[in-house]
Amino acid sequence: MTNLVEIKLWVRFAARDEQLLSDLWPHVEPELPSIAEQFYARIAEIPEAMAVFSGPDQLRRQHKLLMGWINQLLNGPFDEVYAHNRRRVGRRHVAVGLDQAYMFTSMQVIVHALCEIAHQQLPAARALETIHAIHKVATLDLSLMTESFMDVQQDERVVLAERQMLDHLTTAAFLLDAQQRVLHATAAARDLCVQPPKGLPLHQALPEVLVDALSLRDLVLPESGGHRSPTELRLMGQARSFSATCSPISSPVGGRLVQISDHTEALQVARRLEKAESLARMGEMSAAVAHELRNPLASISGAIQVLQATFPPTDPKASIMSKVHQQVRRLDRMVHDLLDFARPPETHLARLDLAEAARQVVDIVAGVDPDVHIDVEGSGSAWADADLTHRILLNLTQNAVAATRGQLERRVLLHIDDHTIRVSDNGPGVPAAVQPSLFEPFFTTRTTGTGLGLAICQTAAGAQGASVFYDGASSLGGASFSVVWVPQPEGVTPA
Ligand code: ADP
Repeated sequence: MTNLVEIKLWVRFAARDEQLLSDLWPHVEPELPSIAEQFYARIAEIPEAMAVFSGPDQLRRQHKLLMGWINQLLNGPFDEVYAHNRRRVGRRHVAVGLDQAYMFTSMQVIVHALCEIAHQQLPAARALETIHAIHKVATLDLSLMTESFMDVQQDERVVLAERQMLDHLTTAAFLLDAQQRVLHATAAARDLCVQPPKGLPLHQALPEVLVDALSLRDLVLPESGGHRSPTELRLMGQARSFSATCSPISSPVGGRLVQISDHTEALQVARRLEKAESLARMGEMSAAVAHELRNPLASISGAIQVLQATFPPTDPKASIMSKVHQQVRRLDRMVHDLLDFARPPETHLARLDLAEAARQVVDIVAGVDPDVHIDVEGSGSAWADADLTHRILLNLTQNAVAATRGQLERRVLLHIDDHTIRVSDNGPGVPAAVQPSLFEPFFTTRTTGTGLGLAICQTAAGAQGASVFYDGASSLGGASFSVVWVPQPEGVTPA
């Protein structure tokens, strides 16, 4: 706030001016009603300025106020009380929504009227001096009024900013009155509520499960308060975690501040970490076991083939041997999958013709299961690793082929579009309950499955910056999975 003394110094408002103004007063006093008349007639010409008055009664009151104001303008005393009153007028103008510009224009009307009187009633030299004094006091007045105008605007801006800050706080905070009813709630707090919280006891505004889990009824009581540690609960079908703090606040409305912190994300991250760690341990263990199994399995397989050759095909032992060999092959596939899953993939990225990669896989799979009709459609290329891509497409196509077993006409389609391949089949599709677990290692619904195929696809895709995902029902009626590669890394031009 600007100092009154400072403003006086600026405009050179001195005792001599005070004297000149008070000497003018006897000439002005009889003219006051007519000045007020002129003043409000001028205001009436401007609808925006007129809009702040409620009606004729208020205008009449304003006439009186204006006359008192002119009296002070000429007679002072120009002390701190005067300054305070002038600042209050400014504040009032803000409150009624008057534009700041009208203070300057209205002041000009008064100044003009006073100068006219000085000019007409006083000798020329004195009139000039008095007119200077009028201009000085008008400037003094305007400085004081507009200064408070700005203060109020500033205050309003601060209040608005505080309200916005409160609303954008990510913490759920409730301000309670002395009766533990909600006075104010942040947006995050309102989001937690089951009904608009204002005026309600906290335990009625919040979901019961949250109130019970954090014992909020007790927490808000004046004799208790304190803190509730993070607690897990199920809210709207989701696992969530919340803590709460209640602290008394010294405010005229009394009451307390209750903050409810959401720890769900931290909990999920911790869970994911735990899972990743246990998967990593599982992967290491599996790789070690698989490694140990690989050589004995190869020997067993070789030995069975030698033994098989010694039995004539009609010998019942030949069929037993064939079954044993089948199981050994299954174990071998499992070992192979385990090693693929555990081995960190090496990548050699280059431009890859996706239709060509798809055809190579189809040739292998169709050779094993000639009953399935497998098509490759479209064309495209990607910045990809050939081996890892082969691994992904082989797994997806084998899964698709396996899914069509039991269908009258078995169909699989590998559709290429730009840098994407979609593998679809006409099998039974993936039930909704199974979909969230599809890519989890060791998740399988097949009696002969390892549950590693899709997990391997995901690791192999991730290693090339690609992604693989379940795409929903396919146009063939079964499931469909898509692989999307990065089209072209920056700075690399296609060959
Ligand atoms: P596995 O094939 O050894 O079971 P995967 O990780 O490849 O392991 O697949 C996991 C599960 O996903 C399968 O057991 C099956 O339930 C489901 N699944 C995968 N592909 C398909 C498909 N094309 N149609 C229906 N279900 C599928």
